[in-house]
Parts: sequence; structure tokens; C-alpha cells
Amino acid sequence: MKNVTDIKYKILEKISKDEAEKAIATILKYIGEDPNREGLLETPKRVVKAFQEYFSGYLVNPDEFLEKTFGDVEGYDDMVIQKHISIHSHCEHHMAPIVGVAHVAYIPAEKVVGLSKLARVVDAYSRRLQTQERLTMQIANSIYKGLKSHGSAVSIDAEHQCMTTRGVLKENARTVTNYFTGSFRDSENLQKRFLTYIKD
Ligand SMILES: [Zn+2]
Repeated sequence: MKNVTDIKYKILEKISKDEAEKAIATILKYIGEDPNREGLLETPKRVVKAFQEYFSGYLVNPDEFLEKTFGDVEGYDDMVIQKHISIHSHCEHHMAPIVGVAHVAYIPAEKVVGLSKLARVVDAYSRRLQTQERLTMQIANSIYKGLKSHGSAVSIDAEHQCMTTRGVLKENARTVTNYFTGSFRDSENLQKRFLTYIKD
């Protein structure tokens, strides 16, 4: 499989900010606007700046957030769950927003990680062009392998604006994806407990 991150890095090197702003001005013209009218003069700059934020996940290695761990967990060996981590991503098919929540759990082996770090992993993968299926797997695998945990579980519940604000226009449609690794994958009981905990 091609490494999505590497592809993006190459593009970032080649395209200057100036070129990116010109491309946005071209799109403004394409939709029937005048990029030279007062209200739009600064828009290409602002859009490119917003894009840098939306897609800042290409510039970070999520595994680094999991490097600093705490060894002393006094024997705690049950699941750690973080619920309702907000997600702001974009679909790779339309670059339309994906907005929702992620619920993340893992079973520590020897080490636990600072709680904010799980949310940072979610953010790092979210701030890229994504499919919800891949996003779910990437977060789960990162927490499984990066933390060397016994297993991880990730559930994402999100709205895809490419189908709520355009296309089929199903404004209440939610997409739910679940992914389990390690001991979660092997145990239906663990999966059930996780899914019960995250239900509100
Ligand atoms: Zn889409």
C-alpha cells in the first residue's frame, strides 16, 4: 500500500503558498465569483491558512504522542476508555467535513499514557483527508502498537457533509465504524463491554 503521508509531503514541497492561493482564486472564478471584489480579496489567503489547519495532521507523527508513558500503574490491567473525543476531519472524495465523535479504549500491558495523548492521536489522523474506515483503523492500530497495549477498540460516529449537505441530502444520516485489535478482537465479551460503556 502506498504511504499516504509520504505522498502529501512531496506535494507540500512542490507547491508554494502563492500557487495554492492562486488555485483558490481560480476556484472562486469557476463558481462564478469575482476574486477581485473587496470581500474576497483576502479569501484565498484565508482559505489556504484554514487548509493548513484542517490538514495539519500530515505534519505530525501520531506515534510520537505515545512515546511518553507511565510505567507505574500499580497493576491496573482493565480497559481505559476515553469517550466523546470530537472529530473534525475531511473526506478524501469531496474534501467535505466529517464531524463526529470517537470513543477509544485500550488495555494497558505495562504502560499507560497521559489521557490527553489519546485525543492527540485522534486529532493527528483526523486532520488528514480520510475515509472513516481508515481513520478508525489507524487510531486503533496506533494505540495498539504504539503503546504495546494488549488491545485497543475504536468507535467513530460521524456525519459526512458530502451526504448531508449535498448529493443524497440525508441530513440525519450518521456513519458508525468500529475496529478492534488484540484482546478486543479475540473477545466478544470485551467488545460488548466497550460498546455498552460508550452507549449513552
Ligand atoms: Zn465524501
